[in-house]
Amino acid sequence: MNRAPSKNILRKKKAVVDAHTHVGISPRFYSQYGYPYALSFEDLNLRMKVLGIDYSVVFPFVDSRYYEYDNDSAEITTTTKHCNFPYELENKNLLNEIYNIFPKYSHKALPFLMFDPSRETEKQADFMEGLMEKYPVFGLKTASTYIQSFISDLEIKGKPILDLVRKKELPITFHSSVHPKDPWAGVNDILTFAKHNPDIRVCIAHSARFLKPALQEADKLENCFVDLSAFIIHCRLAVQNSKNIAVPGLRFDADYEDPLSVMFKLAKTYPDTIIWGSDTPFNYWIQKYHTADGKLIEDRLDCRYDEESQLLKGLSSEIRTKITYTNTMRFLFGSKI
Ligand SMILES: [Zn+2]
Repeated sequence: MNRAPSKNILRKKKAVVDAHTHVGISPRFYSQYGYPYALSFEDLNLRMKVLGIDYSVVFPFVDSRYYEYDNDSAEITTTTKHCNFPYELENKNLLNEIYNIFPKYSHKALPFLMFDPSRETEKQADFMEGLMEKYPVFGLKTASTYIQSFISDLEIKGKPILDLVRKKELPITFHSSVHPKDPWAGVNDILTFAKHNPDIRVCIAHSARFLKPALQEADKLENCFVDLSAFIIHCRLAVQNSKNIAVPGLRFDADYEDPLSVMFKLAKTYPDTIIWGSDTPFNYWIQKYHTADGKLIEDRLDCRYDEESQLLKGLSSEIRTKITYTNTMRFLFGSKI
């Protein structure tokens, strides 16, 4: 029994949709004493219930057992010990957990499959298509920084995946970066992709790292959305002038000490572009990872499980509906909804 929220059900009644959550595990983060390293679909449902969230877009965690990490170096190698290609194990586990282990909660989930735009793309596309024949799937996601693959590869090496996206009319969410040493997930590469492919709905995660020209550009594109995932910790990074956020001269002008006011201003300035997502359980980010120059980045950013959804309560119901429902429906299903 594959109970998924159908377009018709979603269209009937305004709902609160979280456009960015993760379920699964990261043995890599666990081995590095990082947090978070896991969340089950059962526990995501408990959080949704407590926080008043009706539906969640759900991705696997960001890495795959296909990759082998060395905690002491930036290098990533691959192994077919657990998976024959990227995210074989993780995508299958996500859908199995949602539809076979917890069918009683599956009507709350909008699963997206994870992909690698650079490696074994034909195998990934064939496998994902097979999964889509068995289970409802609502989109695709890539977090290319953590697997050192390139968004700029998606139109070339990633063509089998793009063909699948077009055939199934699915949207794609992209992890984004403005870090000068991140060649993998650049906000501008995502925008270039969105411009080249106006028929594919695109979401730039993490508020496009508050890069004002990118937000303006995304707002002009009919097919491009920006999600607010892990908003509070990104505001903290802005206050710290982190390299993971746009430099002050190019940053969306706002008071980052006050995340609610930033969220309000973004939603007001780009009323048809912004969609809300919590990034649960990555509301915390206590992790280590490498940039392209081999530098180890270590962050500790804390944000309680309920702080992201608390922010929503501070917005007017008109803005809340736009970013948790109206814009999100257009991203998920196109203007036909
Ligand atoms: Zn995320």
